[in-house]
Amino acid sequence: MDIRINNFECEFISEGKVKDAIKECEGKHVQQIAYSSYHEAFTQICFGCKKIRTSLKEDDVKQKDSEVVKHE
Ligand SMILES: [Zn+2]
Repeated sequence: MDIRINNFECEFISEGKVKDAIKECEGKHVQQIAYSSYHEAFTQICFGCKKIRTSLKEDDVKQKDSEVVKHE
């Protein structure tokens, strides 16, 4: 079965809240944690909650998009 990324809800929350969610899902859900040293941000992808929780700022993500557009 394929999992579509659109089914995932993306939450922009504080690093503390991301870490709380990681602890809460531990042992219950399949999850992956990513850390960006550049942004100093944690991102949790939880397949159980179908949520991406990140301490990245919504603007950081948007900035990346516009950079891609500039190169085109
Ligand atoms: Zn979960």
